[in-house]
Amino acid sequence: MLIVMDKKATPQEIEAVVTAIESKGYTARSIPGGERVSIGVLNNEGPVDASLFMGLPGVKDAIPVTRPYKLVSREVHPEDTIVDVGGISIGNGHLTIIAGPCAIESEAQALTIAKHVRHAGAQLFRGGAFKPRTSPYSFQGLGEEGLKILAQVRETTGMPVVTEVMDFETFDLVEEYADIIQIGTRNMQNFSLLRRAGRSHKPILLKRGMAATIEEWLMAAEYILEGGNAQVILCERGVRTFVHHSRNTLDLSAVPVVLKESHLPIIVDPSHAAGRRDQVIPLSRASIAVAAHGLMVEVHHDPGNALSDGAQSLYPQQFEELCDQIKKIFNILGNNVDRCEAPISIAE
Ligand code: PEP
Ligand code: MN
Repeated sequence: MLIVMDKKATPQEIEAVVTAIESKGYTARSIPGGERVSIGVLNNEGPVDASLFMGLPGVKDAIPVTRPYKLVSREVHPEDTIVDVGGISIGNGHLTIIAGPCAIESEAQALTIAKHVRHAGAQLFRGGAFKPRTSPYSFQGLGEEGLKILAQVRETTGMPVVTEVMDFETFDLVEEYADIIQIGTRNMQNFSLLRRAGRSHKPILLKRGMAATIEEWLMAAEYILEGGNAQVILCERGVRTFVHHSRNTLDLSAVPVVLKESHLPIIVDPSHAAGRRDQVIPLSRASIAVAAHGLMVEVHHDPGNALSDGAQSLYPQQFEELCDQIKKIFNILGNNVDRCEAPISIAE
């Protein structure tokens, strides 16, 4: 349930509602809005009786939340969330491009690619320091040395950096260096990692599990918001299907569904969906056409010698073309597409 407070509700009235919620054994979560405060009622088993709260001073409405995810849903939070990373806004009205190699391999490699992608129009740099690899014999990433190189890239280019956290044990370390902490497809339902991300003060990029439904994905995001971190960016990266023409199948139908269900920003990673370079530009165009808020793309200046995911990495020149094309598509759509078909309106 969502308790919607009157615009003129005083802090004391809000506090009294929180106390009333907690006295029933529920958890209260304040959700500041543009004009008014709403309070989510969490941890209830079974329906909540609205009449318990409707008569309290300052309460305007009590709305049942029909979705299993609450804090990530538009029912609870109709306005789009905009995540701010070092002055870069991610979310509705903004086109965010994150690019870089799959893995940080050396300082020279990272800086070379960073300069290329920044020149082409990327606002954020990506690169894995801890790599989740299918084979234990594959390059596992440079670890902390990779994080230090990322810090160097940020200092040299001014671009905030996105990097993956693979486990609970290294979370503190990754959190120290990253501007956005990525949780990868393999960890989408690593609940202790999600809970730790919920306690982080850094934005979290939550990739969709390769076999996850949209509901499972949003429930994973719910763990992070429930833990107290509202800065979550969702990332569609393809799901496992029976096809062989691509590594995964990019599920672009997820984008309009997520935009309708959730206020969180959603971007698309066409690189890990495709697994091959020739599909990355067309899938990027399509991603922006379905109104995703941005892209995360793998780029390498020497993909033939990349230590991971060379086959799907774009050459810098191709990435430049990609940026030019998607900016045109973004501009055709207008940079403020009404992405939520059925916003929940609260009557005056
Ligand atoms: C990545 O972005 O480096 C990555 C490993 O992606 P995913 O978790 O989507 O496979
Ligand atoms: Mn990769």
